[in-house]
This record gives sequence, structure tokens and C-alpha cells, in this order.
Amino acid sequence: MGEKLKPHEYWHLRNQCTLLVNAYHSVNDKRVHESLQVQTGENVRQLIPSNVYAEEALLYTMNKELSRARLANYFDGLLEHVEPFEKPSRKQLEKTFRKVKKLNEPEWDLTDLRENTYYGWNDAGSGRKYILARREGKLEGVYGTLATEVINGACAICKQIDGVSMFLATVKSGAEGTYTKRGNYICRDSQKCNQHLYSLDSLNEFLDNLK
Ligand SMILES: [Zn+2]
Repeated sequence: MGEKLKPHEYWHLRNQCTLLVNAYHSVNDKRVHESLQVQTGENVRQLIPSNVYAEEALLYTMNKELSRARLANYFDGLLEHVEPFEKPSRKQLEKTFRKVKKLNEPEWDLTDLRENTYYGWNDAGSGRKYILARREGKLEGVYGTLATEVINGACAICKQIDGVSMFLATVKSGAEGTYTKRGNYICRDSQKCNQHLYSLDSLNEFLDNLK
């Protein structure tokens, strides 16, 4: 057994392998396929330098006859080797969002936490989005209002273009307990956002800006 993949590594790997298999079916040129195979390996190893599951997936994807459906199946199975986002206890949740009264528990059962680098949910009652992330083992949370309007734009967390809404968080701005609002467009659907989150850098940057 090798070391498990992190969710963002899994999505990066899956995205790279999917692009390659799409190219097998849309470009009819052996030399193009071969150069894309090399490029895919480089792109994967840049982020995941040595992981046995990443190497196996790359090897599997070198088969030019591979269908998109079989690749999707393969990756669904590979989730077994992904380290899930660790679900916090009720106590941890309350401690993280100390100032929130009557915090509604998200519907954890709807989510496969192996797909999540961070965990975000929309609370319909309050019109808020809550975001949980673990950094260096420590649970961190931010929350804010989520505008109802959805536009097509770049997300501050995953940096991809999708349906985003304005997320307005309250941020401590001075030592004297003064607060300011800080707005970012982020994916309305945090599950989809996780699926395009290929690097921790943009998530960390987003969280640091809200501290
Ligand atoms: Zn996003």
C-alpha cells in the first residue's frame, strides 16, 4: 500500500488523465498523442512527485484505446486511495464558528468527503456560506453572506470559471476589534469547486486574505 492521495491531487490527476483520453478521441495523430502523454506525465509529477497510485493511473491512461467511460470508472474506484476531509465533531464545529448562534449542521451524508479538500455548505435559512478547512491539522472556518445572483466568472478558491456568487465575509481589521467586509466571487457549489481545486495555494491565499 502506498501513501494515499490528497483530494486536490486526485482531482489534478483525474483532470490531466481525462484531458489526455479526450485527446485520443478527438485528435487523430499518433505523434500528438505521444507528446501529450509525455506532457501529461510531467504535469502530474509536477504536483505529485512520487505516489504509487498516481503512477498507476498514468500507466493506465497510456492506453490509447481507453474510453472515457472506463477512465471515469477507474477514477471512481481510485477514490479508495484518497484521504478524506476529516469530518469535525459538533463541538469542533461550534468552536470554529463560535460567534454563530444556532448553527445548522450541514448534510454530511450527501457528500463523499474523499472528494473534499475543504468543505463548504450553503445555509438557506441565513443566506450564508460556511467554509471549513484544515491547515497543518488545525480546523479553520470562515463564513459570510452569499449573494443569490449567480454569474459566470473566476472563483477565488479554485481559480476556474464556473457559476460564482459574491461571498461577503466579515474580517477583523484592527486590534481594537473593528471589522470590515471583504468580498470574493466564489463557486456557489462548493462540491464542484472542490472538483476543480488542483492546488492548495489558491485555497490558502483565499483563507489568508480573510484572516
Ligand atoms: Zn471554485
